[in-house]
Amino acid sequence: MGGKVDSEHTHRSFSRRNLFQIGAVTAGGLVAGSAVAACSSSAQDVAASSTTTTMAVNNPQDALARLMAGNARFVSGEVLSQGQDATRRAAVSDTQTPYAVILSCSDSRVAPEIVFDDGIGDLFIARVAGNTATTPIVQGTIEYAISSLGSVLIMVLGHENCGAVKAALGSVHGDPPPPGQIGAFVEPIIPAAQSVQSLPSDQQLNAAIQQNARNQCALLKSLQPIIAPEISSGKVNVVAAEYELVSGKVLLLN
Ligand SMILES: [Zn+2]
Repeated sequence: MGGKVDSEHTHRSFSRRNLFQIGAVTAGGLVAGSAVAACSSSAQDVAASSTTTTMAVNNPQDALARLMAGNARFVSGEVLSQGQDATRRAAVSDTQTPYAVILSCSDSRVAPEIVFDDGIGDLFIARVAGNTATTPIVQGTIEYAISSLGSVLIMVLGHENCGAVKAALGSVHGDPPPPGQIGAFVEPIIPAAQSVQSLPSDQQLNAAIQQNARNQCALLKSLQPIIAPEISSGKVNVVAAEYELVSGKVLLLN
């Protein structure tokens, strides 16, 4: 396993990095630049280089800046919709180099490629109700993107008004177990639901949504043998975020 991973790491070269079109200076680009300025210095760098035609995403800072710039375009309505045509389909048909992994809820209102104004082959996405990373299948899916595809950022994306988190709160409050296998995706959210019980009832849902995203983020950061060493070396990062259904904004969580 270790040898395989090591050999795969040799593919972490510039040539395998995902190149993307920043595009010319457009209204969307300017809006994106101003909106991401508060995220990080890297975000400002991306905004400042908005006249650049291509830019490599080969570190977690640039990956996060690209995600947030795309979300700012989505919020403003000034989307670029790049990488969604026949040229892009052909370009990535042999191999994929998605720069980021998104672990999001299956909720029909949370569609990562749309929310981040990204294209085909850009994002490696694991979706499960409640955006939890506790099962081997989800963990392995994310590990594969990191070790074999060269993704450099993992974002755990919770969202406003999440039904899975509501169900977890209901469970804590004594609701009967849900039917079928529904409880399987509710159970991993229980710790987050329990952690917000001292809050006023009208604040518990959003607090639990955010805590659940943070919990999954912490779990992924500690995951041996693939993700944790990459975090330690600074090659990969994991962040937690929450998507607002009405505004379309993605808020980074500490
Ligand atoms: Zn949800």
